[in-house]
Order: sequence, then structure tokens, then C-alpha cells
Amino acid sequence: MATRRIPASVELHPLFKRIAQFVRIEKYDRDGGHSKPRIRIEVATTMMPPNLIREMLKAEVQCVRCGQPIHPFRARTKGSSDRTELPRHVYVAVACPLDVNIGCSRGKAAKEAYIAIEEAVENA
Ligand SMILES: [Zn+2]
Repeated sequence: MATRRIPASVELHPLFKRIAQFVRIEKYDRDGGHSKPRIRIEVATTMMPPNLIREMLKAEVQCVRCGQPIHPFRARTKGSSDRTELPRHVYVAVACPLDVNIGCSRGKAAKEAYIAIEEAVENA
């Protein structure tokens, strides 16, 4: 039986080393206050080679909470006017989408995963 090995989190994915330089960490203190700052992780696709964007969108890692395979790089909006049809805005997710499992993206595991990504980007 062929088992696909899926990395446990996005910063452990082999592609991450090539993507880290395009990753932008955005913090929103005003939403949750200093004790619970919201972190949003965006990928600046404008400077990325198209092949890397396509590879990135196909990448799979495990959900940090339930272990199901997820796509950590998700298009925020489709680049419909763009002939290449590559998304302009991509964000990093660490858990199942809300419509798959509402509990996964909330809670401690997801929060810790965002911090791990932040550290991996800083050390890249
Ligand atoms: Zn999950």
C-alpha cells in the first residue's frame, strides 16, 4: 500500500524554504488586544515564479488539530482577469476550513502553529 507522507505542518513542508521569503506576517492587536493578537499570514505572490505558486497551491500538510490533509496555501480571491489564472492573494492556513471542521482553526493548536510559522519565517 502506497502511503503518501504529508508533513505535520506547513513550515516542515519541503516547499516552505522557497516560500518563506515571500511570507508576510500581519498582526492585528486591535481585534483581540495584546493578550490575543490575531495573526494573518499572507504570501506575496506578485514576486513569485508562477511555477512556485502552482506548486504551493497543490501542497498538502496535516491539519494541526485533527491530522486530516489540508491545503495550507489558499487563494483569497481568484485572479479572474489574469490570463494565467493565478491567485493574487494567497494566505496560509494551518487547519481544516471552517466548512469542514469548525473546531480545527480555533483553539490552542492553531494559535501555536501560527507562532511556529512566524519563527520559521524569521529564521529562514
Ligand atoms: Zn482539522
